[in-house]
Amino acid sequence: MKHVNHWINGNLVSGGGRTSEIFNPATGEVSGTVELASVEDVDAAVEAARAAFPAWRDASLVKRAQILFRFRDLMDRHRDELAALISAEHGKVHSDALGEVARGIEVAEFACGIPHLLKGGFSENVSTRVDSYSIRQPLGVVAGITPFNFPAMVPMWMFPVAIACGNTFILKPSERDPSASLLIASLWQQAGLPDGVFNVVQGDKVAVDRLLEHPSVTAVSFVGSTPIARYVYETGTAHGKRVQALGGAKNHMLVLPDADLDLVADSAVSAGFGSAGERCMAISVLLAVDPIGDELVDKIVERVGRLTIGPGDDPASEMGPLVTKVHRDKVASYIDLGLEEGAKLVVDGRETPIHGGTTAAETPGFWLGPTVLDHVPANSRVHREEIFGPVLSIVRVKSYEEGLELINTGEYGNGTAIFTNDGGAARRFQNEVEVGMVGINVPIPVPMAFYSFGGWKASLFGDTHVHGTEGVHFYTRGKVVTSRWLDPSHGGVNLGFPTNK
Ligand code: NAD
Repeated sequence: MKHVNHWINGNLVSGGGRTSEIFNPATGEVSGTVELASVEDVDAAVEAARAAFPAWRDASLVKRAQILFRFRDLMDRHRDELAALISAEHGKVHSDALGEVARGIEVAEFACGIPHLLKGGFSENVSTRVDSYSIRQPLGVVAGITPFNFPAMVPMWMFPVAIACGNTFILKPSERDPSASLLIASLWQQAGLPDGVFNVVQGDKVAVDRLLEHPSVTAVSFVGSTPIARYVYETGTAHGKRVQALGGAKNHMLVLPDADLDLVADSAVSAGFGSAGERCMAISVLLAVDPIGDELVDKIVERVGRLTIGPGDDPASEMGPLVTKVHRDKVASYIDLGLEEGAKLVVDGRETPIHGGTTAAETPGFWLGPTVLDHVPANSRVHREEIFGPVLSIVRVKSYEEGLELINTGEYGNGTAIFTNDGGAARRFQNEVEVGMVGINVPIPVPMAFYSFGGWKASLFGDTHVHGTEGVHFYTRGKVVTSRWLDPSHGGVNLGFPTNK
């Protein structure tokens, strides 16, 4: 049985207080325990980060970039090990875990360019013999609070950029799959990052609340469900902090009748059931514009029937279990709800054989196979609520306009996609849809590291998206310097407002 500690000031630290169990989702067995930080544990991490800040802020841009290059290289060499840790606690298949590590590494690669990213502007002679220039400076101690579904990638949306900008960082990972955070911490140390610049506090609401109210924490990045994102945003900003809080999602794929239906079916099955639907950019609703619905459903059902569902460490598995029993049961409850609400169940994931053996419902572990609900009513809870599991809903619509209206009146605005061969329709969609990340014949349009990731509406509280140049902006404060080097003609006292001369 493993035990997962905190990482504070370059050391593994045990608070010796409360703990929580970690499960192997494929078997349902307890595989270890994780510390749950007390207020004092969080304070110790903040103190380490506060003490490390002045020297790290003053580290040259080139030195910071060199450490980032080494960190990126170490992450690359430990991809497999990280993916195995993720798969064992989250349940996702190894290849999928490798994918999230790769996308996380891309943010470290982006952050290697920090000397360029932090360049300011300079204007000579804004007034006679007066120059002006802008600089961006780090905030101090910043925190990241992250969800279970991407235990490596989502933290890496945050800390490579925050640290490159000269901040010190405290990560509070999900208590359900915390091990990756400690391997990452040790790789930072091997890369030469000074102790105290990157810290990890394991924990739950107690740790989150302390980070939100601690006077030395200047900014908080959060990714998780909408109710907690709203809470983190409101509490953090009430305590004077800068907050970006990314919430839940319900992502639609609008399929126009001219689309390539084989491409659509491949994309819908990949984006709906990859990582067991536990992705904030998963496609959970297909809006099939008449008359293609029946043909599309047939193609999807045929593909779902060929999927192999099994443990994440089996190379043959394409989809693993869900993260916990509670979550599995909640997701499964939407199947009955869908039937009550008038949907037609065309694939029942409770009956899916797990790796060719017993059904999902009978297999120990947190199993639910890919489920397809057709003719889902637009006003149903199954359509409107985030399910966050392998349940794909198909809503039949009569027109592009009706589909667009359903997307734009939804609570969330994280990701969406249109599938069509009509460039004009696609262009109209990208303009009219009220969603932060849009795919055109791309089902999971996750922006690259050099763009910024974030949704609209209940999918984001705050003004700034993560990583890319918005990430650099979030983790720095702007300053503008107006400078005049005295010459013999300085002109004496003048109480008028400074204006251009
Ligand atoms: P969650 O909201 O339950 O937990 C996220 C973090 O908040 C964890 O670190 C957790 O310990 C902490 N937390 C949980 N309850 C809390 C409370 N009452 N007070 C303070 N902190 C609390 O989310 P999750 O189940 O880990 O992750 C799944 C959710 O995250 C889904 O809704 C998914 O859409 C969302 N998500 C969104 C994005 C995005 O980019 N918008 C990305 C990934 C996941």
